[in-house]
Amino acid sequence: MKKKILIIIAFIMIISTIIRTFIVGASFLNYSNSLIKNQTNLIVDILREVIDKDKFLHIIQNSHPIKKIEFIKGQKNELIYSFKDKTIISIVPFNELESLKIVFSAKNYFDKLLMAIAQLILIALISLIIIILLVNHFLKPYLEILEKIEESTNNILKGNFNNKIELKLKGEAKDFVNSYNYFLQKLKESFGVIEEKYTALIEKEKSNDPLNDAKETIEQLANIFKFKRIIEEDNSYETILERLVDIIKEFEIKHFIIIGIENNENIAKIIHSQGDICCNVLENYKDCRAYRLKKEINSLKMKKECLSHYCNTNHICLPFSSTGNFTGILKIIFTDEEKKHVLKVLPYIKAYLNEISTIIESKYTLELLHNQNIKDPLTRLYNRRYLENMLPTLIEGAKRRNGKIGFIMLDMDHFKQVNDTYGHDAGDRVLEKLSEIILENIRKSDIPVRLGGEEFLIIATNIKTKEDLRKIADKIRLAVKSQPFYLSSGLYINKTISIGAALFPDDCEDGNECIKLADKALYEAKNQGRDKIVIN
Ligand code: GH3
Ligand code: MG
Ligand code: MG
Repeated sequence: MKKKILIIIAFIMIISTIIRTFIVGASFLNYSNSLIKNQTNLIVDILREVIDKDKFLHIIQNSHPIKKIEFIKGQKNELIYSFKDKTIISIVPFNELESLKIVFSAKNYFDKLLMAIAQLILIALISLIIIILLVNHFLKPYLEILEKIEESTNNILKGNFNNKIELKLKGEAKDFVNSYNYFLQKLKESFGVIEEKYTALIEKEKSNDPLNDAKETIEQLANIFKFKRIIEEDNSYETILERLVDIIKEFEIKHFIIIGIENNENIAKIIHSQGDICCNVLENYKDCRAYRLKKEINSLKMKKECLSHYCNTNHICLPFSSTGNFTGILKIIFTDEEKKHVLKVLPYIKAYLNEISTIIESKYTLELLHNQNIKDPLTRLYNRRYLENMLPTLIEGAKRRNGKIGFIMLDMDHFKQVNDTYGHDAGDRVLEKLSEIILENIRKSDIPVRLGGEEFLIIATNIKTKEDLRKIADKIRLAVKSQPFYLSSGLYINKTISIGAALFPDDCEDGNECIKLADKALYEAKNQGRDKIVIN
């Protein structure tokens, strides 16, 4: 910087010296021209008046500054400067045949010219030195400040705010440096706070561009904040998990699996899978190391930490919502080529998981509580309380629509024998299986209820005739009859059911009456020898 300024000053000085030299030279020539011309004209005028011209020429031949004077042939008008001989030759026409040639000695003129030029150069040199010294003296501190600012800015870009400018300065330069240092201090304090806050939210490795890191992280935090507000208003934890899948896809993760483990129910299911799951957690989810230890399992940190992972790839398993009734596992599977990208987005994915954990947990627990209120814990079918609450609404709806509702009551034949012969637990397995068969053979819009014991009620909506009712009942009866019930290894039993049914509004006027009628029909089916259907 300093060098550049000095070169520019020197250049300007040289140019101005050259220009001035030309000006001096030109005015010198101008002056000498008119002087020589005057003298020549004077001599010509005198010579014209003189009678003995040769004598006159002889007399003035060597009188200074005339070196030589003579007539030459021809009419010429010239002024010749000879720097070599330091002479000026003036030729003017004298008469029609001759011209007068006068050689003036111009040693003095040329010496003075050279002297003037030498003085000019000397003055230029001296002023150059003075200017350089002055520039050096006055600009030096400012140039030093500029150099320090450049150094300090480079450090700021690397995240180092500790480069205060420490120079011994006076006046304006000192004020400037003080305000720069104050600005730096403020920047350090505010960025320090921002960095501290966001690193507490997102555990992210620092790169060599911390300002860009901060920008990226704050953008992601804003996205996470928006995401959190959206999922807070979602109805079910399943919807939240669907959104999580979208987010992970947005992070361009190609191969990942989300597993949901319902701790109370001992159920592990795949919520989403993109590619091979690469482990057998579904069969025995308690073997899942991330689930068991409730911590991240990362094959990059420790190879073969999880022996269940059978693919020849890297994997990271992240448990989330792992403190309550529901545990989610996000498994990311990636190749060495994808490693860099996965590690870059991993902190953000973790931040998302962290934020959704509590919300998923509370939504799941709410749903669980709701289900516990309205569903039977053994068969997961609706309970009698739910039936009592929804029945009047259902009947009102059917009345408005002029619709029909079928009430199908079923009871297992000689169920007591199962309990008595194989134990209560075996009886429970049979009831679970029976409820599965019921669910498989009714429509989604039908409502299956466990009234108590081994007595079930199916409320079939959108039904038109008793024939439809019989068809549904027969379908269930045959399904139960044809499927052996598993009790323990190698032990299966065959069971039958009896069914009684009634149709609203054909047989009865309200829900309770219809149930009573269906129950009566069931009693009749039992009396007819069981494995029978009686429709009112
Ligand atoms: P039927 O053909 O006349 O229906 O004969 P049954 O033996 O099935 O007679 P009933 O329907 O009266 O039998 C009800 C039995 O169901 C009595 C009770 O021990 C058993 N039971 C009721 N609730 C449960 C339950 O939750 N689990 C088990 N294992 N058994 C139950
Ligand atoms: Mg029974
Ligand atoms: Mg019974």
